Amino acid sequence: MELQQLLSEIKNFCEDRDWDQYHNPKDLAIGISTEAAELLDLFRFKNGEEITQTMFEKREHIEDELADVLFFVLRFAQMNDIDIKVALENKLKKNAMKYPADKVKGINKKYNEY
Ligand SMILES: [Mg+2]
Repeated sequence: MELQQLLSEIKNFCEDRDWDQYHNPKDLAIGISTEAAELLDLFRFKNGEEITQTMFEKREHIEDELADVLFFVLRFAQMNDIDIKVALENKLKKNAMKYPADKVKGINKKYNEY
């Protein structure tokens, strides 16, 4: 499904339930954060091989939580007239300048640490 189609489905889903009234920027940002926390919670207290095992055993749950995050990201963009594709393209350009491949290849430090 293309991005515009996804956005259209999300819009219809929310309008059918009269949820626009609840989708202000603050509550949508809370939605992004809480759904990301639900994803993170699946890995709580896991290390090494347990993380790999969780990816295998809880794959569907992980996919659901990741989709929940994406739903709120797309809904936030939609309700606030943000072209998420353009925003992502712009951020990738900024990140490319912050993290020049020739300087950071194989290094996982933050831009102000290398
Ligand atoms: Mg969830």
